Amino acid sequence: MLKRCDAASSDADTGKRTGKRPRKAARKRSDLMETERSQDDELEIRVREAGLRPTRQRIALAELLFAKGDRHLSAEELHEEALGAGVAVSLATVYNTLHQFTEAGLLRILALEGSRTYFDTNTSDHHHFFIEGENRVVDIEAAPVSVHNLPEPPEGMEIVNVDIIVRLRPKKARHG
Ligand SMILES: [Zn+2]
Repeated sequence: MLKRCDAASSDADTGKRTGKRPRKAARKRSDLMETERSQDDELEIRVREAGLRPTRQRIALAELLFAKGDRHLSAEELHEEALGAGVAVSLATVYNTLHQFTEAGLLRILALEGSRTYFDTNTSDHHHFFIEGENRVVDIEAAPVSVHNLPEPPEGMEIVNVDIIVRLRPKKARHG
């Protein structure tokens, strides 16, 4: 984000020196930058409030994660999106950043046995369908799911929350 601003101000300097900068185009571009900047600013505040330093990579990844509503993403999927969006970042960095965001409370982790780890941008208490074969995670919308007879937690422990994953597969065709 800082880089972008630096580039803009050096452009402006060049314009002043040559005096040839077309004004209309310049204004249009700065309006565009204003929108990008306020979105980045919001993310920067969000990352900063979570106690993390808002580095350029963290902001870029946060932008990909949080700009599209509630999502469930694996590190591999986010890495592919980042490369597609021109964010040069390694899978290891994506993985570390996702775990830092999770520890900071920006993401919720969904560990599915024998499958990938998914990161959920919706940190509220909710449950999931998991579609086997497609490896797809879907929120269970606003349905009150209750679990009875939960075990007593061990001495000195308390239950934080209960994650329910309902596994789905297409119905098998019946014969006869
Ligand atoms: Zn979810």
